[in-house]
Amino acid sequence: MIRNAVPLDAPIRMARPAPRRSLQALVRWGSRVVTIGGDAPVRVQSMTNTDTVDVVETAIQVKELAIAGSELVRITVNTPEAAKAVPYIRDQLDRMGIDVPLVGDFHYNGHRLLTDEPACAEALSKYRINPGNVGKGDKRDKQFAQMVEVAARYDKVVRIGVNWGSLDQELLGQLMDENGRLAQPVDAEEVMIRAVMTSAIESARRAEELGLARHQIVLSCKMSRVQDLITVYRALAERCDYALHLGLTEAGMGTKGTVASAAALSVLLQEGIGDTIRVSLTPQPGEARTQEVVVALEILQALGLRAFNPSVTACPGCGRTTSTTFQELAKQIDDHLRAMMPVWKTRYPGVENLKVAVMGCIVNGPGESKHADIGISLPGTGEAPAAPVFIDGEKAMTLRGEGIATEFHKLVEDYIERRFGQSVAT
Ligand code: SF4
Repeated sequence: MIRNAVPLDAPIRMARPAPRRSLQALVRWGSRVVTIGGDAPVRVQSMTNTDTVDVVETAIQVKELAIAGSELVRITVNTPEAAKAVPYIRDQLDRMGIDVPLVGDFHYNGHRLLTDEPACAEALSKYRINPGNVGKGDKRDKQFAQMVEVAARYDKVVRIGVNWGSLDQELLGQLMDENGRLAQPVDAEEVMIRAVMTSAIESARRAEELGLARHQIVLSCKMSRVQDLITVYRALAERCDYALHLGLTEAGMGTKGTVASAAALSVLLQEGIGDTIRVSLTPQPGEARTQEVVVALEILQALGLRAFNPSVTACPGCGRTTSTTFQELAKQIDDHLRAMMPVWKTRYPGVENLKVAVMGCIVNGPGESKHADIGISLPGTGEAPAAPVFIDGEKAMTLRGEGIATEFHKLVEDYIERRFGQSVAT
């Protein structure tokens, strides 16, 4: 018996993401406005890994990231040549019809690049400033001020992005000394978290004093460990209402990077913390840069925060189904739906909410299929070679024979046309 258990018939607390309460920033390019924060949807951001000086290659990658679903794309601006290339990249994108706002990533020399290259300052829609990398001693405040003044002059949003790997060492040292003088010092990890958070908030306040509106500021404090990231963002969200950009830095490759990012971001997003996200995956050899966007979209969709693609529910399979038919069908359907989305998004408004089920046997097959908009329960080992299809919760037909996959494919397309095609006509 569980002690203090609530009665069986007590109301059930439904899991829902908590509302966000940050200020709203507007990131603009031409007539395109991407709202960040407040009640705007959580936005997806990504970053190129091309040499910014290579205008064509960078523009192509930005286009790929934007088509994959990235609503803001960050590019490195590290040299005068890169800064000079930025307006040409913007121009190339505009000519390709890609109006995704560009974010410039500045470190060390951003004050000079933004001042010396006004066309770069104008072509970017948002600047990322890392307070740990703007200079040391007296130069730090002066150079930070120079960048913020350019942002205020051109009415740009600024992300003040603190990164654990490049934290302001003077601030960390000062907080460590103060902690050492306390009667009961806290542990070094807590001081480090405090230093990261303090650097972000104090830099944001300084930017406001320099003329940047509060709603033009986005904060990020990227950490490489999941629990540290959760801790620092909870602390930030309790202390300020700036819009927050989330991302686990140096998340790593493949499954490890994907899982770590999903774990960290999901906890925070569920608590209503985070207005833009980036998944910092190290691409595996040959892997597309767009994979980081795919993962970010999946996180938001899995949490029910946004819908981007129709979802395919498929069972994991077990000893009750020894053929790979249902795995192949689930993959085919999933691949087909994703491949068609760029076209369907405009032709079938709302199609991203479609739910398809492809199940392996009679145990859970009919039940899951009834919950989907359209679902199929394939025959498990030893079951009659028949596959009932459920449409809108009702059994609609039973497919048999060799052509089950092709027929179900067609049924899904007909369903989409019938249900979502009508909304265009009306
Ligand atoms: S639906 Fe059937 S095949 Fe799929 S996991 Fe459940 S029992 Fe196994």
